[in-house]
Amino acid sequence: MYNQKMSARYIWCLVSIIIGASTGYIPALAAEGIGSIEPSSNTVQIDVLFKASLYKLRQNKPSEARDLLIEASKLAPNSAGIHCNLGLAQMQLANLDEAVAQFQLSLKLVPTMTEAMIDLAECYRLQDKLDLSIEWYQKYLELRPNDLSVRQTLDTVIKQSKLPQSEKFGSNYLREAIAVEKNRWPRDKTTISVYFDRNTKVPGFRSEFIGVLRDCLTEWSNALGGRIHFSESLLERNADLVCRWVYQPKPGHDDLLLNERGNASLTAYRGEISHATIKLLTAPSLIGSEVSEEIIRKTCLHEIGHALGIGGHSPNNTDVMFYLVESPTVESHLTSRDKETISRLYNLN
Ligand SMILES: [Zn+2]
Repeated sequence: MYNQKMSARYIWCLVSIIIGASTGYIPALAAEGIGSIEPSSNTVQIDVLFKASLYKLRQNKPSEARDLLIEASKLAPNSAGIHCNLGLAQMQLANLDEAVAQFQLSLKLVPTMTEAMIDLAECYRLQDKLDLSIEWYQKYLELRPNDLSVRQTLDTVIKQSKLPQSEKFGSNYLREAIAVEKNRWPRDKTTISVYFDRNTKVPGFRSEFIGVLRDCLTEWSNALGGRIHFSESLLERNADLVCRWVYQPKPGHDDLLLNERGNASLTAYRGEISHATIKLLTAPSLIGSEVSEEIIRKTCLHEIGHALGIGGHSPNNTDVMFYLVESPTVESHLTSRDKETISRLYNLN
């Protein structure tokens, strides 16, 4: 979605554009309890395994969480909470079929379990089974009618389900990339100076994020065949591209950050970008967890893509510019479609 606004500084001619997601990302919910289980069960051992797995899930260690939950599910095969979280672990490991099976088991045991419903809907969306996804979002909303972010997501999934299939599997997604507006850095601009805060005190920030950000800039530069290089600027006022780390988005201001873990705002005139700012979220999606380096990589790649002028999103769930940045199906590096799209964008007349 594009949100256009006039920038006061450039009101006479320049348009500042904020690019964000066309959808809300719904952080997967982990079941907090195991639910009812057989009275004869070894409840202490099950509880220990469950709590340890919850901790691992929040630490972004899904394979360790999965192993613990498989143990727990052998001891308590009828625990909806265990199956739900096992599904979540499998989902984070991109084992989507196994994840779906676990969520279905939870819902067979507890048909009103909203955590399993939302995760199942999300899982079907990642599998591109959009009709099933819509069905489960609707079931969830019957029980939680006031959940506005899910309602928004449902609207987006419905829109997405109406897209022609060919759009998803072509060699590029240039059409979507410039559907609303076509912006690029000027032809003679071969070096973009980049400022980012290396010593930020923003919660959740880790020094390794800087290396990730640098790698992502290099990846895009390579995708453009070196047509654009990025150089680091120590002064924000001298920079063409400013990157900020944000933990807590400002309500009404940074709402889009919650949607795709970041946003990009451009200052452009007649299709030529003169300045860009990207914001990157350091907060985890699961409360109490830590954001993984992989998610930071995907977010950086995605927002730099917007900062280079890709205004829209790819409809293919493997591309970096797919609208659900956090999806386990999204690659951690630019796909051939991402590369061809940016290359075509910069070669357009
Ligand atoms: Zn985006």
